Amino acid sequence: MFPRKTTLFVLLVLVLVALAACAPAPTPAPTAAPPTAAPPASSASSAAPKPTEAPKPTVAPTKAALKGELNLLCTPQQVWCEGMKKEFETLNPGVTVNFVRLSSGEALTRLRNEKANPQFDIWRGGPIDSFIAAKKEGLLEQYKSPNAANIIDPKLMADADNFWTGIYVGSLGFATNTKQTAIKPPTSLDDLIKPELKGQIIIAHPASSGTSYTFLCTALQIKGEQAGWDYMKKFAANVLLWTKSGAAPVQNTGKGEAAVGVVFSHDIVAGIETGLPLALTFPAEGTGYEIGGQGIVKGAKNLELAKAWYDWALEAKTQELGKKYQAYQGLTIKGAQPPKPELLQVKLINYNFDYCGDNKKAFVDKFSNEIAAATLAQ
Ligand code: PLP
Repeated sequence: MFPRKTTLFVLLVLVLVALAACAPAPTPAPTAAPPTAAPPASSASSAAPKPTEAPKPTVAPTKAALKGELNLLCTPQQVWCEGMKKEFETLNPGVTVNFVRLSSGEALTRLRNEKANPQFDIWRGGPIDSFIAAKKEGLLEQYKSPNAANIIDPKLMADADNFWTGIYVGSLGFATNTKQTAIKPPTSLDDLIKPELKGQIIIAHPASSGTSYTFLCTALQIKGEQAGWDYMKKFAANVLLWTKSGAAPVQNTGKGEAAVGVVFSHDIVAGIETGLPLALTFPAEGTGYEIGGQGIVKGAKNLELAKAWYDWALEAKTQELGKKYQAYQGLTIKGAQPPKPELLQVKLINYNFDYCGDNKKAFVDKFSNEIAAATLAQ
């Protein structure tokens, strides 16, 4: 037996040993700052998507590439039609643009004849009188382009029902051959009916040409309808040649076939730039002007491509391409820089496009039957 004191001592030692066995391990002394700083809360790694989240696209989705053939009825000059084809195909490598160049009146007749089975998807160019007439005859498709919101003066330059939009603006002028020094460049409509200009004027025929129809309707508005028709009879008596295309008289007068051509001023400037000896003048009482139009053909077989072209033509940078291809018209989209602003800084009449568009067929028929026929018979 252990003595009582010894027993107590042994028990105490056992308890101390047991307590020491249950004590937590000693914690290491705290160290200094961690070797690398923690990333700030806003860093990329903290914004990384959680594994359950779908990754967000980093590039905006692109429109499906356009494909197919677009059939274009093209009324501007051949060079600009070819230029537009090239530019549009470069932007849309899957698209081929087939075009036929026809003057305004010919184009309108073609659309009338093909109404039951349209061969074109879009018609571009030529004064809107023809587009107003085409709308009236059910030849155009309605389309509200998102880019039409950028037209400078939508009331004047776009159809209220979205059948056509204006894509350029041009003023009528006179081109006089500067080598024919005996002839003073005309500065009024009345100068054109003076005896010294007998057989000295070249202009297109209003049945085929929008340019010439603009001249006819300008005369009817400046003079009044009855006096306007009398004026046109006298004018016709001075005309040497009625061409098919509106811009053709620039070449004729430039070569000296006649002294004076009646043409849109931007076409005269284009001729002067190629070296033709021409002077440009305007009628002081005010001149007629055109808004050039575009419209989708009713029943177009390639509607998606026609809409893409229509939208493209209403972009400032597209309109500014014209000068690269000798098309110097004024422009209709906000912010687009017109190549020759001075051509519209002349006195313009308050041309009534609805009057000229609604009466186009009647006025052309009257002119063809009563005036041109008589002069051709002389
Ligand atoms: N080409 C140009 C450059 C024009 O400005 C216009 C007028 O819109 C036309 C052609 C129209 O041609 P046309 O008078 O032969 O209908």
